[in-house]
Amino acid sequence: TEKKLQKMTKQSIVTQLAAGFAHEIRNPLTTLKGFVRMLELNSQSADESKRYIKIMNGELERIQVITDKFLSLAKPMVVNLEKQDLHEIIHDVISNMSQLFKDHNIDIKLKVATNLTYIRGDEELLKKTFRHIIRNSIEAMPDGGEIVVKIKSICNKLIVCVIDQGIGITSERLAKLGEPFYTTKEKGTGLGLMMCYKILEAHHGKIHISSRVNKGTTVEVYLPDMEGIYLN
Ligand code: ADP
Repeated sequence: TEKKLQKMTKQSIVTQLAAGFAHEIRNPLTTLKGFVRMLELNSQSADESKRYIKIMNGELERIQVITDKFLSLAKPMVVNLEKQDLHEIIHDVISNMSQLFKDHNIDIKLKVATNLTYIRGDEELLKKTFRHIIRNSIEAMPDGGEIVVKIKSICNKLIVCVIDQGIGITSERLAKLGEPFYTTKEKGTGLGLMMCYKILEAHHGKIHISSRVNKGTTVEVYLPDMEGIYLN
């Protein structure tokens, strides 16, 4: 995906984003129009009207979520790079998600295989990235299971691996990851990973995803460690 994005001209990225956005907005708009027309006819019971309005609110909510996410992708990103302990960041993210793990019958393990875990980064943006990656893992395991998060270091890079036992991703789909609006989820927007890529780019980091269908997915996030930054 990284290569693919690089190959695309700026114009074609803009065209693709605009087309994707229009497409995503058009569906809920069509639904809304249909329900407005039915309400105009005024031939339904009060209960039915209530049900229509509930559906309409859901569609409006969806338009709002897509628009908000799309705008925050389009905005230039303000990154506040400061010395951070990646171990602490991951620990905080996992602790804050503990109820979510319980609700989904997921065992979460954190393994730290390095004692140099300092990086320069934006705490909130990095937390957002890891929260999203872990959330994707949870959503890939409808029957629960185990998620292992590993922190290791190789050649001035810190690597965070998020390993799940979920449904996995076919190689065909793997190639589409990171394309805007690519989602396999009913309520997904397909904008989350794009945001993660954007955040990691601002950290001189990158992301690598490997997967086996029905075995699980491993997402590796590479970030330069403090020494790596001084060498650059
Ligand atoms: P969203 O979660 O809104 O669909 P993302 O950009 O985060 O958007 O993810 C895009 C798609 O990538 C998901 O719909 C899903 O198909 C796939 N995906 C991401 N992470 C995983 C994972 N850990 N296991 C299986 N599929 C995944």
